[in-house]
Amino acid sequence: MRAFLETTRLERKSQAYEVLSELALRTLERVNQAQSTEFTAQNLKAGVAPDVTKDPSGWLSPLWAKLLALEPQWQEGLAETARTLGVEFIPKLGKHPGSPALYYLEAVSVPADAAPLSVTPAPAGGVHYTPEAVAAPAAWLSGALKSGVVRWTTGLRWTLLGGIVVVTLVALVFVWLMLYLGVRTTRPLSLADVLGIALGIAVIAGLASPYRFLNELFDLRIVLAPSVLTPISLDNVTLEMRRRDADDEVGELAFVRYTAVCPICDGQVLVDSGRSEFPGRLIGRCRRSAREHVFSFDHVSRIGVPLRDAMKGARA
Ligand SMILES: [Zn+2]
Repeated sequence: MRAFLETTRLERKSQAYEVLSELALRTLERVNQAQSTEFTAQNLKAGVAPDVTKDPSGWLSPLWAKLLALEPQWQEGLAETARTLGVEFIPKLGKHPGSPALYYLEAVSVPADAAPLSVTPAPAGGVHYTPEAVAAPAAWLSGALKSGVVRWTTGLRWTLLGGIVVVTLVALVFVWLMLYLGVRTTRPLSLADVLGIALGIAVIAGLASPYRFLNELFDLRIVLAPSVLTPISLDNVTLEMRRRDADDEVGELAFVRYTAVCPICDGQVLVDSGRSEFPGRLIGRCRRSAREHVFSFDHVSRIGVPLRDAMKGARA
């Protein structure tokens, strides 16, 4: 849990994660001293927010509920972190109700399908990306979307196709109306007409981008998720089309945020578009030195190699 929180930098994200970080740290200490690893709300509050005057259990329960809701999103990253560290267990949140209630982390075995059996080690000077699933858009609609992974089913495929057909028809009707009215109009063009036409063209141009987006998703299997589809608090989220079986029929759509630790400055590396410099590619950029600490990004092997010559020279 400590390693996962550290690479993803989640520990500083919110107070709920601070609680988790505290719990993980205290658990590790107690394990080393061979003591009980169960904690009261009072224990956890003392480490995270000693100055808050609220009653400890009232302070902790919304934070704990938040962590429980987020837990499905960590599974893949935790499993992969475990494999990297060579352990067969991942931590799971646990609570014994009672007065006082006791909070703890228990070790459960890594689910068989959660991560590849072997993890490609990061090359010298390169990085290893850790995935963190992100709740899919409209996660409030269905609990199933909370883990950020949506099963790619025939139903979903037809819904998506149906949506595209409807949007296309609406666009065609709009174009037809514009032409139809345009031909019938005999008065001189007013400013309102010009603005109307400009707006129409903008709408049609806007429609082109979802097409390009879907095309890239199906062709390349991974794209940067458009910001309208991701939570405001998170950027640099990728949308992946994952296929589980050989005949490509069953799969899932996953919203994933990949992070790594920059080997040069210890900053956080996030996935970004390669823009004009690395056209058609997704790359990892360090937050501290976004122009120079640049790495390749491969969502299958999850490793990145340095893309700047200076970086290669530095490690030689
Ligand atoms: Zn860096």
